[in-house]
Amino acid sequence: RLVLGIETSCDETGAAVLDETGHILGESLHSQKEVHLRTGGIIPTVAQQLHRENLERVVQEALERSAVDPSRLSAVATTVKPGLGPSLGVGLEFSRRFVRRHDKPFIPIHHMEAHALTVRMLRPVAFPFLVLLVSGGHSLLAVARGVNDFLLLGHALDEAPGDTLDKVARRLSLIKHPRCSTLSGGQAIELLAKEGDRTRFPFRTPMGQTYDCCFSFAGLRNQINMTIMKNEAEEGIEQGTLLSCVNDIAASTQHTVASHLAKRTHRAILFCKANGLLPSNSPTVVLSGGVASNEYIRKALTVITDATGLSLLCPPAKFCTDNGVMIAWNGVERLREGKGILPPDVDVSYEPKARLGVDMTAQVKAAA
Ligand code: ATP
Ligand code: MG
Ligand code: FE
Repeated sequence: RLVLGIETSCDETGAAVLDETGHILGESLHSQKEVHLRTGGIIPTVAQQLHRENLERVVQEALERSAVDPSRLSAVATTVKPGLGPSLGVGLEFSRRFVRRHDKPFIPIHHMEAHALTVRMLRPVAFPFLVLLVSGGHSLLAVARGVNDFLLLGHALDEAPGDTLDKVARRLSLIKHPRCSTLSGGQAIELLAKEGDRTRFPFRTPMGQTYDCCFSFAGLRNQINMTIMKNEAEEGIEQGTLLSCVNDIAASTQHTVASHLAKRTHRAILFCKANGLLPSNSPTVVLSGGVASNEYIRKALTVITDATGLSLLCPPAKFCTDNGVMIAWNGVERLREGKGILPPDVDVSYEPKARLGVDMTAQVKAAA
């Protein structure tokens, strides 16, 4: 059985064909990253236009590279939630026409479910496991109990960590930095942090007095902005021209983001242990999403998993960021279980906001 996966939820246009074992027959990915870097953030109508310009070709490429005719597909899986409405709409409209034309079943995909399950394409990871997903639009901790069976332990109360890193990078004009001109904010900060002193600016770790599993990064970004302003003022230079302590700001920022993520994950592990939510035999934390490609953050989480006797699994960076492969894999998993497979002519709409799984955040808070 072969599944075509299509991803357009944010700023990546992706498509891939997978077989039932998770073997990638062919894939294609078009990133809009550089365009959005230049405009200083994603403009939804621009993202939509770029998906429109590229999706057909990306799907064609994935099919050609896999040497699969559409008639041989068992189903088409497409991200329909959550994400930018205009972007989701392009993928959904294309997919609806495609499945009708080729008379194929349609599998609507939750983008965060796909991020959570990707690891199972690469190695056998049994349910249940704890998963931390961190990206430009999301920050969440959940127990994955099955393909479409999640318990949401915590989520972002304001902005997501990738968004914070992108905004700090923009505030520092890192795009003008010779070594960072083509890097995302998170990548730029990781690179500069390698030569920085993380103790130079001791930012407060967010929500130090709240013992639940939710995340907050807006306050941290405010602290960072104040520090940047103060240093610009002291040097009497224009906004976004700071050079002297950029590495130290990057290192301190990365350290505080890592510390917040690690503390929340520790809390989630304790909650899971107290409530028997993870197996006693080789319990696992899966880390994914774009921010999970950060080595420093991975190491910080390893400290927590080592101390609590869990193992940390993280897909390689190319499977942490958005792509068509993870959507196709989610389709494979759903097809195997016969869950959420729709006829070609069914009417589906996209949902910009969609929570993953059963909301347990109140129970986590109450247990603190
Ligand atoms: P969604 O939240 O819907 O998954 P997204 O497009 O933000 O959408 P990804 O493509 O998974 O999701 O992640 C992109 C984010 O990851 C960006 O904010 C980027 O700065 C961040 N990122 C990428 N590489 C790194 C890194 N090495 N360190 C830290 N953050 C990184
Ligand atoms: Mg993206
Ligand atoms: Fe994503």
